[in-house]
Amino acid sequence: MNNHVTVLEIDANAVLHNLNYFKQRLQPDTKILAVVKAFGYGSDAVEIAKIVKDNVDYFAVAYCNEGIALREAGIDTPILVLHPQIQNIPTIVKYRLEPNLYNFKIFEAFLNYASEVPLMNYPIHIKFNTGLNRLGFWHTDVPNIIARLKKSSNVIVQSIFSHLVASEDLNEQEFTINQINNFAYIIKQIYEHLGYEPMIHILNTSGVVHYPQAQFDMVRIGIGLYGFSNTPNETAQLKNTHSLKSIISQIHNIQPGETVGYNRAFVANKPTRSATIPVGHADGISRKLGNKNGFVIVNNQPAPIIGNVCMDMIMVDVTKIDCKEGDEVIIFNHQQHIEYMAHKCETIPYEILTGLSQRIKRLVK
Ligand code: PLP
Repeated sequence: MNNHVTVLEIDANAVLHNLNYFKQRLQPDTKILAVVKAFGYGSDAVEIAKIVKDNVDYFAVAYCNEGIALREAGIDTPILVLHPQIQNIPTIVKYRLEPNLYNFKIFEAFLNYASEVPLMNYPIHIKFNTGLNRLGFWHTDVPNIIARLKKSSNVIVQSIFSHLVASEDLNEQEFTINQINNFAYIIKQIYEHLGYEPMIHILNTSGVVHYPQAQFDMVRIGIGLYGFSNTPNETAQLKNTHSLKSIISQIHNIQPGETVGYNRAFVANKPTRSATIPVGHADGISRKLGNKNGFVIVNNQPAPIIGNVCMDMIMVDVTKIDCKEGDEVIIFNHQQHIEYMAHKCETIPYEILTGLSQRIKRLVK
């Protein structure tokens, strides 16, 4: 029996549609890395991986534990761990995960571990900082990296990569093109001195849309898989993947002057029907959506959230909607609704999706 009334439905066909949409925009031999960190952008990393694994070349996760979860679910595809720590190294190797080595500390630690075990030709990835100033080596580090790599047969550089700062922002085109050119210069030096040619990648979803000339050997698609591209025209070509649904637990008829919710934030000025729904800020529905900033869909009609969002509940105004206790409520099932929520919360769809708590049941459709 399904005890969960609030369910996040994941549309497998939509995920595949979105993947194919980007695939068609790429050269036939460009590889695809699917970014499934943060529970597959709030959905379910294992389920997303199962849906796309036959159509992608790589997965990326942020942390080691996320990679372990994929391996334990039987995912055999190469997995890049974007943000490993030194203490993760033995576990990374145990689970055949591939580390991003982003500074000399973790680079040296990994190479030392690889020679102690010893490992042979273990795949590693090296990230360069080309402007984000978050993780990565500097271009001036290239000679030292090459010198150290030449002394080791324990590892093989599977890829060299970087991350764009503002691929979605066409006002930053000049900066982005500079970033790509600087990255290409780093690659040229590495190719000249390393003795072999690792894969190269720099594009995320918006990068694929705006800078396809820089697709190199692989692209890393995250938000695009989940139906967003940061460009309205492109998002319109993608399908919605996350639908959050619940039910009406109770309906109250409120008289003028009565209030709804904590701190009496909603005051009825006319007879009002208020429906209570079992989803709240602990599930990722921000308090910023309270007081009519957000809405849900009840029997095809928008029902504004009234009063403050509680931890486990919201109340919505259904005065004009024909509905009863037990009816289905759609918290969102369309990209535009998620974008609207993001706008009201002064954030981006990424945060709305990844903020959905693990308390919500995931269901693949
Ligand atoms: N590559 C790296 C290093 C990232 O951190 C991310 C996401 O944050 C991605 C790729 C995917 O970006 P997007 O979701 O915009 O496609």
